[in-house]
Amino acid sequence: MDKLNINIKKIRSDFPVLREKVHGLPLVYLDNAATTLRPQVVVDALAGYYLRYSANIHRGVHALSEKATAEYEKSRRTVKDFIHASSTAEIIFTRGTTESINLVAQSFCRPSFKPDDEIVVTAMEHHSNIVPWQILCEQVGCRLKVIPMNDKGELILERVDSFLTERTQLLSIVYLSNSLGTINPVQDVIDKAHQKNIPVFVDAAQAMSHCPIDVQTLDCDFLAFSGHKIFGPSGIGVLYGKEKWLEQMPPYQGGGDMISSVTFEKTIYNTLPYKFEAGTPHIAGVIGLGAALEYVQSVGLDLIMNYEKDLLDYGTKALLSVPDLKLIGTASNKASVLSFILPPIHPHDIGTLIDEEGVAIRTGHHCTQPVMKFFKIPATSRASVAVYNTKEEIDLLVQALFKAKKIFD
Ligand code: PLP
Repeated sequence: MDKLNINIKKIRSDFPVLREKVHGLPLVYLDNAATTLRPQVVVDALAGYYLRYSANIHRGVHALSEKATAEYEKSRRTVKDFIHASSTAEIIFTRGTTESINLVAQSFCRPSFKPDDEIVVTAMEHHSNIVPWQILCEQVGCRLKVIPMNDKGELILERVDSFLTERTQLLSIVYLSNSLGTINPVQDVIDKAHQKNIPVFVDAAQAMSHCPIDVQTLDCDFLAFSGHKIFGPSGIGVLYGKEKWLEQMPPYQGGGDMISSVTFEKTIYNTLPYKFEAGTPHIAGVIGLGAALEYVQSVGLDLIMNYEKDLLDYGTKALLSVPDLKLIGTASNKASVLSFILPPIHPHDIGTLIDEEGVAIRTGHHCTQPVMKFFKIPATSRASVAVYNTKEEIDLLVQALFKAKKIFD
């Protein structure tokens, strides 16, 4: 146990990929905002389904199908408890955050939004929380409005109210920015929006593995996250929605499982949450996601938060010891993400050079081109930490950066 009560040795041993070598060197994986590594328990849960009970769910009466259905629905309960939803009817499995946002754009907004209605987002959204609304705007003639941020990459909270008008039909906000690390004051923003009866969507793609989330306390109307960013499988995610909204929304897709009866004349849709889960879902993915959330619960999100905060503070200081390095995103409330530029070296060159030292980071616009435009840069290098990272790994990153700098000098 270290002083923050994290048994880092044990945690690292839970993640088989951390034993891999890259270019003959131990892997230093600092690309967690793109996707996290998976613990053995998640791999075992996936394999368990494929090896022992790989049947289809819901429709079978045989033992394997009943087992698969039971495990699938157990995961739904795990998700419900994890985010403190009031009912499993509010938990819809999707392919991920992106699909969850598209679902709400098409099923919640499209049927009722009118020309000149407004959707409000922030200046630091991922493309997933921009483009689905733009598609909607093209479809119904509504408009996208953007709450600005300051030079530290913080939302200008005082400006929020002026963006919420009688035309605003939805506010959609990222909880934790993937390119800046900013943790937004989502509770304040939700309260402001609700004072004007405006529903709020929370993009928790990054927040899920770094901040405890309670949808009932937040009182958000919708919230989305992706399994692969919280140690779970890729291709699986969740849309949480308040039952009162989900009930009145038409299905997103039609097909098997989302119906209770079909005739050529009329189809009666299934109850929640199945109304939104057309077709055979990613059964193994759902089961793997349940295992991933149970894993996080076993470590404890509060402990994870404290441990990562210490790591982030250490990483911030360590990176600033590199001459000419500039951090992009210096919000006072941050998690996980250390985005930086190191002129004159292009971020892509940095990524390639430090990969030779076994250090994996991400370079580019991180699907936030408007954020890059705001900072007048084409790209950043981004190191992002998870609970299995260590200060020694941060030191290796910094050493690799010094080496890259030497090559360019
Ligand atoms: N929102 C944020 C803040 C993200 O970081 C990401 C992925 O990086 C997404 C949305 C989209 O997630 P996915 O690609 O898993 O659907």
